[in-house]
Amino acid sequence: MKIGLEVHVALPTKSKLFCSCSMEDSDNPNSNICPICMGFPGSKPMLNEAAVRSALGISNALYCKINRKISFVRKVYFYPDLPKCYQITQMEESIGKEGYLELENKKVRIRRVQIEEDPAQIVRKGMLTLLDFNRSGTPLVEIVTEPDISTEEELREFIANLRSMLYYLGVDINKEMKADLNISVGETRVEIKNVTGIKSLIEATRFEVERQTEAIKNNEKIERETRGYNEKSRATESMREKETDEEYGYIYESDLSTFDISEMKHADPVYINKIAAELAGDSEVNPKTIREITMLNRSALAMIYRFRNRYRVRSIIHGIQRFEKYSDSTMKEEDSDRIEKLVKLIDEGKDISREIAEDIIAGKEVKVEYSDVSVEEIEKMVRKFLDENPGVLEEYKRNKKTVNLIIREISSKNNLHPKEVAAGAAAVLKSIAG
Ligand SMILES: [Zn+2]
Repeated sequence: MKIGLEVHVALPTKSKLFCSCSMEDSDNPNSNICPICMGFPGSKPMLNEAAVRSALGISNALYCKINRKISFVRKVYFYPDLPKCYQITQMEESIGKEGYLELENKKVRIRRVQIEEDPAQIVRKGMLTLLDFNRSGTPLVEIVTEPDISTEEELREFIANLRSMLYYLGVDINKEMKADLNISVGETRVEIKNVTGIKSLIEATRFEVERQTEAIKNNEKIERETRGYNEKSRATESMREKETDEEYGYIYESDLSTFDISEMKHADPVYINKIAAELAGDSEVNPKTIREITMLNRSALAMIYRFRNRYRVRSIIHGIQRFEKYSDSTMKEEDSDRIEKLVKLIDEGKDISREIAEDIIAGKEVKVEYSDVSVEEIEKMVRKFLDENPGVLEEYKRNKKTVNLIIREISSKNNLHPKEVAAGAAAVLKSIAG
C-alpha cells in the first residue's frame, strides 16, 4: 500500500498573498476584497514577502533544497470559485523540493513545497450558488509528499509530526488541515480530493484501502479517478476521471517576476520533539513533562527557549506549573514576565508560598529578603552540611555539578542568596576536595 499526501496549510500573514486585503476573519461576506483577489481583468498581483518567509521556514524545517530563485505559474481551469480562470501557484521553481519529514522508523520524502492562492468560497443556498471572496487570495503552502506512507499508523505519525512542526513555526493549526490523498493498494492510483480535518483523513484512508483491497480480491478493475470523501456516510465517492497535468494548462505567470530569495532570513529547522529531547538532555525534567506542557502551548515553549540560558529548565517548568495552578489558567505570551519572577525565585532555591505566588501573579511588587550572614558563617554551614551528608561529597568528586545541589539546599534552608552560598561552597570544596 502506498499513500501520498498533498497538505494545504494557510500561512499566518496579515494580508493576502497578492494584494493588501486583510486576512482578519470577517462575518461579512465579500468585505475583504479588491480587484486583484477578485480576479478583475487588468489587475496585477504583488507578492507578499511575509508569506514567502513563512513558506521558507516550513521548507527548511522539512529539510528541503531551497530554490534560490522562485517563480509562479498559472494553473488554468474553469470553476466558479476562480473567475480569472487560473490559480496562481508554483511548479518547477517552487520554494522547496526534495526534503523529508522524519518518523520513528522511516523518512517520508517531501517532493515539493509550493506557495499558492486559495480560491473563493462557494456557498450554496437552495437553488443559489453564492461566492464569498474573503477567502480568495489566502496564502497557502502545499506540501506534496512522495507515496512513502504505508500504514495507517505511519499516516497518524506523519500528521502529528507535521502538525507539531507547523505549530512551532507559528502556523495556525486551529484552522483545519486540508489534504488530498493519493492511495494505491495495487497498481492504480486513486486521488481523494479536499479531505478536511485529521479524523476525516484517517477515516477516508481506511475506507479507500478497504475498497481497493476488496476490488482486487474480486478481480475488479480499479479506475484511475478522483473521489471525494463524504463525512456523513464515511465513504469515498467517485467524482470524475483523474485530470493529468496536461489537462490543466500550466503557463508562466508573467505578471509576477522571478524572485531571488537567497538572502531571505528564515526560522531554524527544528522540530518540537527534537527541542523537547534536547531540553530534557540538559535538565532534570522528564521529556514527557516538557512535551505535555509545550505541545499544546506555544507560549510555554517560547518561554523555555527564551529563558533557558538564564535559569535551569527545571525551574522554568516549575514556574509555569505554579503559575498555571495558582492563576487557574493556561499561560499566555504576556504572562512570561510574571512567570519569570517565579522562576527566578525557584532557581535561587527559595520556597515560594501560595501567598507569594499569588502576589506575583497579581502583578504586585514582591520582595524576598535574604538573611544577612557573614562569609565565615556560610562556610561553616557548608562544612556542616557535607559532614552530615558524606555521600554528597563523594558525588561531587565524581560530578562537579553536584555543587548546585549543595547551593540549593543551603540557600533554601537558611534563606540565603544563592550567589553568596556559591562563593562559600566553592571555597570549602576547594580546600577539601580540590
Ligand atoms: Zn484583495
